[in-house]
Order: sequence, then C-alpha cells, then structure tokens
Amino acid sequence: MKTKILVSACLLGENCKYSGGNNKNDEVIALADSFELIPVCPECFGGLTIPRLPSEIKGGRVYAKDGEDVTDAFMSGAEQTLYIAKETNAPCAVLKENSPSCGFGKIYDGTFSGNKIDGNGITAQLLFNNEIQIFGESQIKKLRYLYE
Ligand code: SF4
Repeated sequence: MKTKILVSACLLGENCKYSGGNNKNDEVIALADSFELIPVCPECFGGLTIPRLPSEIKGGRVYAKDGEDVTDAFMSGAEQTLYIAKETNAPCAVLKENSPSCGFGKIYDGTFSGNKIDGNGITAQLLFNNEIQIFGESQIKKLRYLYE
C-alpha cells in the first residue's frame, strides 16, 4: 500500500488559489508514482470563496487585504486538514511555500508588500504541532529520500 501524503491542492493544479488560479508543480504531481496524494485546501475548507482577497498573518491573526479578520476561517480549515491527516495516517505533507495557510518556515510579513519573514502558516503550524512532517514544493527530493 502506498504511503499517503497530504498535498496543497493548488500544487496539484486545482484552481483554488485566492486569484482563482493554481500553483501546478510537475515534481509534486509526479509523487503520485510512489505515494497516494491527498489534496487539501485549508482556505476552501474554511469556507472562503474562490476567488477571494489575499490574506496575510499579522500579530498572530490573519487579515484579508481589506482588513477583514479571517482568522476563524483559517483556523477551521486547519482543523479540518488535521482531521484528514489523522484519518489517513499521513506522516507528512507537501504544502505551498509562503502561504498564510500552507507556508512553513517563511511567510509574507502582513504588509502585502511581498516581504517575507520567518514564520509558519496556520495549517502548517497545526500539522507540525501534531508531528506531521512538512515539506515545501522545493523539498521534494528530500521527501523522496526520507519516505520512498
Ligand atoms: Fe493552496 Fe494552501 Fe492556499 Fe489552498 S490554502 S490555495 S492549498 S496555498
């Protein structure tokens, strides 16, 4: 049986980005040769629309670009993603880098100016807290080395 891995749905080509587009990544998609990929989009799970305004984290909360506090939706999406991770026994996840939900290690700084700071997205942090290993899309070789 193939190991199950959670994957940000936008990396698999699903048009769930805030803009209505995707972040299709062929190296991520090719993981399906060795793993069972489980698409997740925490922002969609949280009830946010496609398209939607971009959001960033500031002071531990999440704000859409118009200033609306969307923390509850992000938290709900994170909890639902964790539930799926537990139900499927996925040991790790491939998550879109820099996202306020999926980013791990670096995220945008909350000023909507493109600056990045050290930090984790809401879902990435919750998965990490529950001992699920997080890889960004630039770390696929490392994931294959550890899990194949
Ligand atoms: Fe992609 Fe994650 Fe944003 Fe959904 S929440 S569009 S999966 S980066």
